Amino acid sequence: MTSKPGEPRPQTASHIVELPEAVKNQIAAGEVVERPASVVKELVENALDAGAHEIRIDLEEGGVKLVRVIDDGCGMGPEDLLMAFCPHATSKLREVADLDHIASLGFRGEALASIGSVSRASIVSRTTDEAMGHRIENRGGEIGPVLEAGGARGTTIEIRDLFYNTPARRRFLKRTQTELARVLDVVQRLALAQLEAGFVVTHDGKRVYDVERTMDLAGRVRRTFGADLADSLVAVSGVDGTVRVEGLLAPPRFARRDTSRQMWFLNGRPLRDKVLVRVLKQAFHGFQVEARHPVAFLSLSMDPALVDVNVHPTKSEVRFREDRRLFSFLVAVLRRALSEADLATPGEDLLRTAWRRSEREAPQGYLPNPGALEPLRGGTVDPGSFRAREGTAAASERDLLVPAAGPRAPGVGETSGTFDVAGALGAAGEWGAQDAFEGPYLQIANTYLLRRLPDGFEIIDQHALHERLTFEGLKRQVEEGQVEVQRRLIPDLVELSRAEVKAVEAQLEALSASGIELSVFSPTTIAVQGLPALLRRPDPEAIVRDAVAALERTGKAPRPFELVEEVLHSAACRSSVMAGDPLTQDEIRALLSRASVLESDQTCPHGRPTRVRFRLADLEKAFHRR
Ligand code: ADP
Ligand code: MG
Repeated sequence: MTSKPGEPRPQTASHIVELPEAVKNQIAAGEVVERPASVVKELVENALDAGAHEIRIDLEEGGVKLVRVIDDGCGMGPEDLLMAFCPHATSKLREVADLDHIASLGFRGEALASIGSVSRASIVSRTTDEAMGHRIENRGGEIGPVLEAGGARGTTIEIRDLFYNTPARRRFLKRTQTELARVLDVVQRLALAQLEAGFVVTHDGKRVYDVERTMDLAGRVRRTFGADLADSLVAVSGVDGTVRVEGLLAPPRFARRDTSRQMWFLNGRPLRDKVLVRVLKQAFHGFQVEARHPVAFLSLSMDPALVDVNVHPTKSEVRFREDRRLFSFLVAVLRRALSEADLATPGEDLLRTAWRRSEREAPQGYLPNPGALEPLRGGTVDPGSFRAREGTAAASERDLLVPAAGPRAPGVGETSGTFDVAGALGAAGEWGAQDAFEGPYLQIANTYLLRRLPDGFEIIDQHALHERLTFEGLKRQVEEGQVEVQRRLIPDLVELSRAEVKAVEAQLEALSASGIELSVFSPTTIAVQGLPALLRRPDPEAIVRDAVAALERTGKAPRPFELVEEVLHSAACRSSVMAGDPLTQDEIRALLSRASVLESDQTCPHGRPTRVRFRLADLEKAFHRR
């Protein structure tokens, strides 16, 4: 009934008419059904209200094309099916007084009617005592008859083509991935709230989320948000009269900019509530930076008469009847849990910051060389002072590592009070000499070395570093064709097969070029005459067996360098300072100073890092100073 402005309205009996049922429902749908996620929320809540233990949610195109929820709940008989799509039809509420103590998730009797009016919907359901199931359809508000159908006990609801008949609504939908993310958020919250039920979500045929029915809250948090968070959670539990709180708190370092990981559940219903946001803020007061929001998963159970859930159509806001008392009870419980928890930030977090930083600063996998430090200028810390000094150390490195020539670096196990670091480093200068090698060093578990740096500190794996040192030394000697060999006083005998002895025999020369001096002792025995002097505590048998394996793999005369890579690699590892060797300050100093002139001392020959460095910036982050 349109009329242009200023024109008299056409004469009819009444201007005000009652809207057709379908239009009413579409308008009501505006409150409840905004997007696929709201459909999923209503349907899953219905399944939970029906006592379901296993709930499966199949989605297509983020739920816009299809939302299918399958449950093993109580099901609906044909009479209930007939009513299911009718507005304000519910089995959960009978009279006004019931509104005061709502224990179910739904109660308004609106959802199915609303959803059905803006989609092509169908329900197939069977109760326990029925032999047959039944089916009903709703095409955009046109409800069909109840028909017999097959089906297991429980209910399957399909919602296809959401908003197909309300294009204006449909335009507000976002990209598939966005809608899917919102659906998952809804399901995850329900899965964390309802610990009695298992959930499976598929999207376009692929499983995208699941929690087993038997999983507890911590297990579900782990599945949903990862082990890092789950392993750090602090348990909370408290009772005040009929009110009970139970759940998990994350230490302050997990706090976020938003409240999206504050999950409160009231009698199994996920809820957002400003009062509860304040509870957490108050509880963490003094434990963390104010601007951040802590992470928590907390379940409240209380007599439904103590809350009003009928405040908002989506029922995610509530009104507590005794909110002051509740507030102080909750704050006290949470603060107690926090003060008993171990809140120290694990070094792992620090590591992550450090790695993130080094990835950002060194996009092509460049690792700054920590050994040779630039001099400190003008008493201030130059943030760039850890950049590698290319080339300058190469000459002295040779001297240091070939024991036969030049000023020899002290080996591990020797004492070096007089080693001239500054000299060995050439241009590196005073500061590097002082800080890099003077210590004091802390040895932890006879394995890790800790040393101060001008803008932070460093932890070194002594075994990995020594392994690199030995390996680099061997490599250089092999390249220069003069491997220093330690001859065995009594040759070690290694038993091999005839074929293996033959193979070794054919390559005696190549092996000797790598410092592995062998001879044939019998058709099945190899004698080890000498091994590279750089290997401390070598294991002759292991070296021979590795060499045999390398020969078998290459099948031809290996180049000496290949032997170093294949055989001496492992030998360097076995012979190096093992994790567990106690080292003196001087030995540590010697190890570090020798390593500092290597081209590469950031990883052991197998690629494990030799050191982890923390800058002041990392520490500042860890301590929330920035
Ligand atoms: P409400 O949940 O507020 O009662 P709904 O429109 O969501 O309203 O559902 C209407 C009624 O349909 C419910 O009260 C319930 O009796 C029935 N129903 C809906 N879904 C299911 C289901 N999955 N299993 C059993 N009954 C259901
Ligand atoms: Mg409902």
